[in-house]
Amino acid sequence: MFWRITSLFLCIAIPAFGGWWFAREIGALGGAIAGAFAWFAIDLLRGARVVRWLRAGAPTEPPVTAGLWGEAADRARRILRARDQQLNESARRLQDFLAAIQASPNGVVLLDAQGRIEWSNETAAQHLGIDPERDMLQLIGNLLRDPVFTHYYASGDYSQEAVIQSRDSTPSRPIKLSVHLHPYGEGRRLLLSRDITGIEQAEVMRRDFVANVSHEIRTPLTVLTGFVETLQTLPLDEQERKRYLALMAQQAHRMQTLVSDLLTLSRLEGSPLPGQGDWTSLQLLMAQCEEEGRAISGVLGKKQELRFEHAPAFELAGSSSELQSALTNLVSNAVRYTPTGGSIDVAWKMLADGRADFTVRDTGPGIAPEHISRLTERFYRVDRSRSRETGGTGLGLAIVKHVVQRHGAELKIDSTPGAGSTFSIQFPANRLRKSVSAARP
Ligand code: ADP
Repeated sequence: MFWRITSLFLCIAIPAFGGWWFAREIGALGGAIAGAFAWFAIDLLRGARVVRWLRAGAPTEPPVTAGLWGEAADRARRILRARDQQLNESARRLQDFLAAIQASPNGVVLLDAQGRIEWSNETAAQHLGIDPERDMLQLIGNLLRDPVFTHYYASGDYSQEAVIQSRDSTPSRPIKLSVHLHPYGEGRRLLLSRDITGIEQAEVMRRDFVANVSHEIRTPLTVLTGFVETLQTLPLDEQERKRYLALMAQQAHRMQTLVSDLLTLSRLEGSPLPGQGDWTSLQLLMAQCEEEGRAISGVLGKKQELRFEHAPAFELAGSSSELQSALTNLVSNAVRYTPTGGSIDVAWKMLADGRADFTVRDTGPGIAPEHISRLTERFYRVDRSRSRETGGTGLGLAIVKHVVQRHGAELKIDSTPGAGSTFSIQFPANRLRKSVSAARP
């Protein structure tokens, strides 16, 4: 300010003095007025340059650096720089925030007070079949035409979520979505979507499983209750009583087997994977298969030809009880489903790539191709009555599948209706080693 007043004073005083020198009072007045004009003209020019620079958004260094205009330009430049930094920081935070919502496994759509889409992440776009760019500012009610959503959206009660079909849903591959609206701000709404197909499927499987178990237990229980009532109410002779008690024992045994298979399955699902530390010899596994196979065949009174080949001198790593249960299940099935006169061949073979193959081949009724992929489902039976007659629970192959998966092995089923079936398990090379006793000299 001092410099400004001084410069104005000098701009007036020097010409005034010069004018006085030439023409006294008149010259002094003329010189002072001319000096003041010149000062104001220069000042105006400097001000105009600063204003033009500000209007352009202050892209370069200030055009004026000295004096009041210079200071004003400098201060304006600093304020603008600080504002730019703040804007950049806010934009960066917004981008981070949007990137985080993009990464969300759930769909997120921001709706304005009129229900128009302001923003949506890719997941929501996929779930709801919308285009985040093209459908910007479109009414969500026009884009999502599912009647359940329309009703939910119009009801205004968003305390619960609504379940709708995805647009990509097909009868063979249904996709279920949960959508939930959350009001926020001034009339705005946040729409969250979640793919619940897996949860729904798990729930259906759980319900089916409980229904199957209940059914399986109810049948022998009903028979048992009937026999108990008969024993209580009818005067039976000793022979009849014995026959009824034997039938009751059979039903109780059936329930026992079912509960035991259920426990085995739940143990397989809940326990950690078997390690590589425990080794069981293939010969021992085969010996136990033979013992059980012959016992079952004897109990069922079937005259079958059972052949158990001598196993190679190798050992298998894993849980010996699980492995034994899986192998015996295959042998037991072959024995149970092959009629009298049929034959069953069981063999261990080492493959060229170091894997080991356990095969059970029978000359039983065989299985039609449409059933094969479903055999390892719990309670899936091709022939219900034959399974029950022979003491089957419908869980045997489900147990085999679990054991096979837990040991990194592979189950193969090959069957021709009327000609018999071949069930085989291939164990990976890294779970096999030469028998320690056989390797010793
Ligand atoms: P189950 O206790 O009924 O035998 P599994 O899970 O062991 O249950 O087998 C499922 C179904 O697969 C059986 O009900 C049967 O219909 C069929 N199956 C299994 N093994 C054989 C086989 N060796 N020959 C013919 N059918 C078989």
